[in-house]
Amino acid sequence: MTRVPHTISAFELYRSFTSGKTTTDVLRGIDVAVQPAELTLIIGPSGSGKSTLLAILSGLLRPDRGSVHVLGEDLWRLSPAQLDAFRLAHMGFIFQGFNLFPALTSLEQLLLPLKYQGITGKPAMSRAERALDEVGLSGRAKSRPAELSGGEKQRVAIARALVKNPELLFADEPTSALDSKNGQVVIELLHRIAREHRTTVLGVTHDGRLLKHADRVIKVEDGLLVSDERKS
Ligand code: ADP
Ligand code: MG
Repeated sequence: MTRVPHTISAFELYRSFTSGKTTTDVLRGIDVAVQPAELTLIIGPSGSGKSTLLAILSGLLRPDRGSVHVLGEDLWRLSPAQLDAFRLAHMGFIFQGFNLFPALTSLEQLLLPLKYQGITGKPAMSRAERALDEVGLSGRAKSRPAELSGGEKQRVAIARALVKNPELLFADEPTSALDSKNGQVVIELLHRIAREHRTTVLGVTHDGRLLKHADRVIKVEDGLLVSDERKS
């Protein structure tokens, strides 16, 4: 794979949605580059196109126009099967609603993606335990989601994304179901992961109080990138 200075670089992204007779231009020409091993946060008002942008950069939604390069791959020129394999190998995701399996313990939530990759037994167990330790939840290995607080659930979800050692981690509003204190804990954790694991973390938030923990803040308004500010 070719080495590129940016983990993600996107050029001239356009996307619109049509429902009935109305077409909304959600992204109206966005260029963006994301540096490796940093926490970059995208902020902007509700409906400004943040989730659409994140979905396009992470290979979930095809742009109408424009290109996305991730780790040197021209993402939207891959076949659907290649894209799936690329996402599985290199990307982790965390979500607003955590998306944990209600019936599984924290440890089992982490063993599942490993099993999917053919990693089982002792090696899987030690990786899962290490990831839980990383997010400060070794003591909650046997708990099911119903027994965990919102902040703990999101930390299990982060551990589950981390256990595969992805180069990139995407997070759409990872703190919006949490109170302010737990939101801070989760964002600080994402920042530490970016620094210590050299993972590129790209998140979306609408909470301005979290921005101080980011290395870089990209502001989107009405489908355009309006500012790009380095914090560290
Ligand atoms: P944000 O995450 O900043 O709140 P989104 O990217 O989710 O904004 O959405 C921007 C606009 O695009 C909104 O007006 C939303 O209704 C519209 N939109 C997003 N996804 C779809 C879709 N799948 N179909 C139709 N409209 C959509
Ligand atoms: Mg959104």
